[in-house]
Amino acid sequence: MRPALRRLFLLALSTDSDALLHAAEWETRCLHCRRRLRLRDDGEPLGHATLEHVVPQAWFGKRAAKALTMLVGDDANDPRNLAIACAACNHGKGMSHDARGPKDERARVVVERLLERRLARWREPAAP
Ligand SMILES: [Zn+2]
Repeated sequence: MRPALRRLFLLALSTDSDALLHAAEWETRCLHCRRRLRLRDDGEPLGHATLEHVVPQAWFGKRAAKALTMLVGDDANDPRNLAIACAACNHGKGMSHDARGPKDERARVVVERLLERRLARWREPAAP
């Protein structure tokens, strides 16, 4: 895995109050279905953990998504916008909601709820 991507996994984990590091492994829960997911301590997924951009990357810079993107500093890779999700949930969201774009009200509501859930799991990263 590219180091830049691994860094994003670690950003998501270190700011997720559901993520615990023990015995050189991270354990957390899928943002969608709360299934247990494991990653190596260096951010490499074990099994089906994927990196979720809660507000889809393609929505940034779009007026209809402004109210959502501003909540994460208008930066798709802001840690508040990053979460760990299982592959099935992540791809399911991508296909059914992200692709419709922020003008679709149902898609917007789904992303809004997910972002609320992500922010409820927020924790400040430990000092380096
Ligand atoms: Zn899931």
